[in-house]
Amino acid sequence: MGSPVEEAAPPTDDPAAGAPRADGHAPPEPSPGLPAEAVVDLDAISGNAGVLRGRLGGAQLMAVVKADGYGHGAVPAARAALAGGAAWLGVAHVHEALALRRAGISAPVLAWLLTPGLDLTAAVAADVDLSVAAPWSLGEVAAAARVTGRTASIHLEVDTGMSRGGASPALWADLLDAVAGHVAEGSVRVRGTWAHFASADTPGDASVDAQLEAFSGAVAVARARGVDPGLLHHANSPAALFDPRARFDLARCGIALYGLSPAPHVASSVQLGLVPAMTLTARLAHVRSVPADAGVSYGLTHRTPRATTLGLVPVGYGDGLPRHASSRPGGGGAVLVAGRRRPVLGRVCMDQVVVDLGGEAPAPGEPVVLFGAGEAAGRPAEPTAQDWAEAAGTIAYEVVTRIGPRVPRRWTGGTA
Ligand SMILES: *Cc1c(COP(=O)(O)O)cnc(C)c1O
Repeated sequence: MGSPVEEAAPPTDDPAAGAPRADGHAPPEPSPGLPAEAVVDLDAISGNAGVLRGRLGGAQLMAVVKADGYGHGAVPAARAALAGGAAWLGVAHVHEALALRRAGISAPVLAWLLTPGLDLTAAVAADVDLSVAAPWSLGEVAAAARVTGRTASIHLEVDTGMSRGGASPALWADLLDAVAGHVAEGSVRVRGTWAHFASADTPGDASVDAQLEAFSGAVAVARARGVDPGLLHHANSPAALFDPRARFDLARCGIALYGLSPAPHVASSVQLGLVPAMTLTARLAHVRSVPADAGVSYGLTHRTPRATTLGLVPVGYGDGLPRHASSRPGGGGAVLVAGRRRPVLGRVCMDQVVVDLGGEAPAPGEPVVLFGAGEAAGRPAEPTAQDWAEAAGTIAYEVVTRIGPRVPRRWTGGTA
C-alpha cells in the first residue's frame, strides 16, 4: 500500500444538464463511530412530493409510507411528504397506520391490507380509513365501528384486472348492496373507491386501458346501486406520472416520493425531476494489496487480472445489500470511493463486500457511498439504488426497502 491516500475531491465530470439539484456537494458520510449508515434527505422527499403534486393537476397526493417508508422511516417520510404537499398517507397494514397516529400524525390515513381477526377498534377509534374488498372485512369493520360507537370510513377495493386484492367483478354488486345496508345503519361511510394497476410502468400497455374501463364500469355499478363511491383512486407512481386519465381524485405514490423512477426504462429520476432520498454510506474497514490472480471472496469467483488494491466495505446481505449484485463478467454492484466508482469483486457476503480500488490506497475509514442521489445531486459517478437494482436483476423498490434494521438511519433536512 504505497500510494498516498487520495483526497476526497468532487467528481470532475459535468453534472447532467437539467439535473434538479446539481450542486455536486460531497455526499453524506457515516456518523462518527458507525461502520455504515443510511442517511435520508427529508428535503428530497418534500421536494419529490411537490414534483408529484405538480404532475397531478387537481388530484390530491397520497404518500405511500408502507414498509417503514420503503426503508426511509415511515414517520419522518410521512411528515416530509405532508410538508411537501401530500394530503393523504397510505400504508398496507393497520399496525403501520397506528404507528403514524402514535407519532401524532393526524392527516387522513388509509390501510388497505386487512386479514381476518385483526383488532380494528383501535384503527376506527384513531380515524384510520380501512379498505374493504369482501363481506368478511365489511363485517369486521362494521363490528369495530359499533364497539367504538363511531362510523368507520372505508374505501371499497375493486379488482379491475390485476387479480391481486379487490372484489372480483362477479361479487362487486353484492358487496355494494351489503355496504349500502351498513351505510344506512350508520356503521360505515364510503370515503373512497379504488383499484391498483398491474402494468402502469409500461405506458400505452393495453392492460391500462382495460383496467380504466373496468374501473369506470365498477363506479357506475356503485352509483346505480345507490352507493356514493367517494374519492376515486387507481394510480400508483407510474400511472400518476405517465397517464393523466388515471389520476382521478387521488394518486397513491410511493417510489417516486423517495426519488426513484418507477419505470427507469421510460424515464430516469433526473428526467422526472426526482431526487433519490436515501444515501447508503459506510467506511472502509480494510485496505490491502493483492497480486495478479488472487481469488476474491467466497468461492473465489473473481480472480484479479492484475495486481491491485482492495477495499473492504462493512455492508452485506445481512444489511439488505443484494447478494445477486455479486460480480460477474460485465456486471455487479459498484460503490463510490473518493469520487470514483469502484466495482464489487466476487460475492457479496453477509456482513461485507470487497471492492477494487484499482491501485489506490485510501486509509481505512475512508467514506464509501454504496448508493445515493448520484446525477440528481450533481455526482454522476455515484451509484444509485437503480444501479444496484440493475446489477441484481431486481427493481429499485426492493433495494431501498430491504436495507435492514442493522443499518442505522439518520435524517437530514426537514423541519425537525
Ligand atoms: C405500494 C402501493 C402503492 C405505491 O406504489 P408505487 O409504485 O411505489 O407508487 C400504491 N397502491 C398500492 C395499493 C400499493 O400496494
